[in-house]
Amino acid sequence: MNSNQSTSNNSMIVNWINGQLTATEATRTAPVYNPATGAVSRTVALTSVDEVNKAVEAAAKAFPAWSATPAVRRVRVLFAFRDWIERNMDRLAMAITAEHGKTFDDAKGEVQRGLEVVEFACGIPQLLKGEFTEQVGTGIDAWSVRQPIGVCAGITPFNFPVMVPCWMYPVAIACGNTFVLKPSERDPSPSLLMAQGLKECGLPDGVFNVVQGDKEAVDALLTHPKVAAVSFVGSTPVAKYIHETASKNGKRAQALGGAKNHLVVMPDADLDQAVDALIGAAYGSAGERCMAISVAIAVGNVADTLVQRIAEKAREIRVAPGDSKNAEMGPLVTAAHLEKVRGYVECGVAEGAKLVVDGRGLKVAGHEQGFYIGPCLFDHVSLSMKIYREEIFGPVLSIVRVQNFDEALDVIHSHSFANGVALFTRDGDTAREFGSRIQVGMVGINVPIPVPMAFHSFGGWKESLFGDHHIHGPEGVRFYTRYKAFTQRWPKGIRTGAEFVMPTMK
Ligand code: NAD
Repeated sequence: MNSNQSTSNNSMIVNWINGQLTATEATRTAPVYNPATGAVSRTVALTSVDEVNKAVEAAAKAFPAWSATPAVRRVRVLFAFRDWIERNMDRLAMAITAEHGKTFDDAKGEVQRGLEVVEFACGIPQLLKGEFTEQVGTGIDAWSVRQPIGVCAGITPFNFPVMVPCWMYPVAIACGNTFVLKPSERDPSPSLLMAQGLKECGLPDGVFNVVQGDKEAVDALLTHPKVAAVSFVGSTPVAKYIHETASKNGKRAQALGGAKNHLVVMPDADLDQAVDALIGAAYGSAGERCMAISVAIAVGNVADTLVQRIAEKAREIRVAPGDSKNAEMGPLVTAAHLEKVRGYVECGVAEGAKLVVDGRGLKVAGHEQGFYIGPCLFDHVSLSMKIYREEIFGPVLSIVRVQNFDEALDVIHSHSFANGVALFTRDGDTAREFGSRIQVGMVGINVPIPVPMAFHSFGGWKESLFGDHHIHGPEGVRFYTRYKAFTQRWPKGIRTGAEFVMPTMK
């Protein structure tokens, strides 16, 4: 199979098991939409338990040889895959835009962030070295190594169909594990492109597998005795369920959940910078990012100017199909999600927040059936409102007004999510105090979307992450390996010195 061949089998998006596409046998299927037009573009198989079991068995069978392959040889496949991604960057980005809806440039940015994790994974032999202490007792040495854990499963959300799987499988397989990916059924095609790319780069069959599907496939992975670890990224209720079920079934589990990210604008902030940051972070990718800013906290007298300037810029955002040249924001992923986001906007109005910019009437000429909503901006949002408490996951920014810095911290700490946060200020002391006191997993100072680079690790606190490990980077290596400690003594040998007599058998 080369990467120019189709990812489909009779136009159905199917599974990738043991190095090949599977036959189309699914009895259950789901439509995959082109969000820009609203039309069904393809159909995805919803995998049965039996088929998931085949994928796990293929991964289990591949594990002994792959885990015994020297790490330098394992990562040579990833070095080749790194180049493959660069060569196929546009193709991957187009596949994302076609099913997710985000703009082509944004999709390329996503692929780039995934590529960076592959680059990190290429250096993993350095992190698998272990530690050694000579002479912990007389004649006794001790050392430790980190070894792979077996078959790892990844369950991923719709909003980053390339980047989020890349947070998981490059690290897992570089560490010597084998992998079964269950991508989102809403944009499943990029997963198969990556599977084909890995095969072209020399990855042995069975090391990386893809099962399409929904809860049935997920539950089969969560309960399969041969799955050793589960990584999940998605919404908080599902994250909680995944962490609990995988843990109950004796698996290692990390489950990253939803978010409500705040950006605090201090009165001394560079307002041009803060407004641009808010526009990009709130409305980029139509707000469908777990690190999107959905709440701006305006401190002191900055609020009126801030709201006015955000409103001006929000009204100018060019909303268009993701593959059109000058699009700044594309459609939402599905009609159901569009309805949900519209419902939140209606709820905000009913709750008494002031809707300063209303994107609900937006129509994109020639694409009237597409899943579009324009940027929305709410002012005077209070902490009891549903639009403040819940994750909307759309292009809706709420302004919360506070008197001072301490009140801003209290607001952030009152929220159950704690994924990312940002502070805009010109004052180093305020920034340092904020970084030290804030109870959130990822912090940006004058940086609106502080997504850590691949060689650091990614993750939130509180209801934004269940489990002990953040994802990718050094935390990913810890998650995908287990620690083994050795203590060794050898009996004293008798050293007789050189012998000059012809050796004979004794
Ligand atoms: P989702 O929770 O609906 O789905 C995520 C995955 O879980 C999908 O593969 C889906 O098929 C599966 N799934 C859905 N319902 C399930 C169930 N009841 N049982 C078992 N599996 C189930 O999330 P989504 O809508 O695809 O993605 C958006 C969400 O993901 C947002 O909440 C966003 O904040 C979150 N997200 C978080 C991060 C992070 O790093 N914390 C990153 C990206 C997205």
